[in-house]
Amino acid sequence: MRLELAERLRCPNPHAPTPLVVVSRRKRDRELLEGFAGCPVCRLEARITAGHVQFEGTASAPAFAPTGAAPELERVIALLGLSEPGGAVMLTGRYAALAEPLAMLTEAAVVVMHAETGSASDGVSAVLGALSRVPFTDATFRGAALDDGTPRAIVEDAVRTVAPEGRVLASVALTMPAGLKELARDDHEWVAARVSVDPVVELRRRQ
Ligand SMILES: [Zn+2]
Repeated sequence: MRLELAERLRCPNPHAPTPLVVVSRRKRDRELLEGFAGCPVCRLEARITAGHVQFEGTASAPAFAPTGAAPELERVIALLGLSEPGGAVMLTGRYAALAEPLAMLTEAAVVVMHAETGSASDGVSAVLGALSRVPFTDATFRGAALDDGTPRAIVEDAVRTVAPEGRVLASVALTMPAGLKELARDDHEWVAARVSVDPVVELRRRQ
């Protein structure tokens, strides 16, 4: 896992938002390869092995298995607005098949949620465990691509982890969660932009 992403790990349990404390055992360049992450509030622990993050008490089996053909790489990069290099991107399901080429082409750090343990490669890390929240702090990702089969709780929570103006690309089988503005839709997918985090303040005269 890219070091700057590891610093944005957040406890997925339902208590006040709390960053995980990360202890590094082995690094290579910008990648954290081996280590631990722990929550100071609820004591949840995660093990970092070969760059992947495995939360405790969760089976290593994927929460869902991708179905269907891999999406087209250039199209996904365009729809997610990743023409500028860098940043971080989250993928689920069959979009995860694009993790390595997407990381190479866009220089983005790619997080695959609910993955099977894939081959470790620089810029790609899997988050393993049947989590009900995305274990990253708000506005971590430039974009997210969410496949059919992504748990509803993850779809809804993913929105806050995408930066304002960042894109969410998803299967039409997934109802668009709050906090997004639809940009386009076809028979298979919709793409939306994260609306600004600041709520619109309505000025009212006091009585
Ligand atoms: Zn916790």
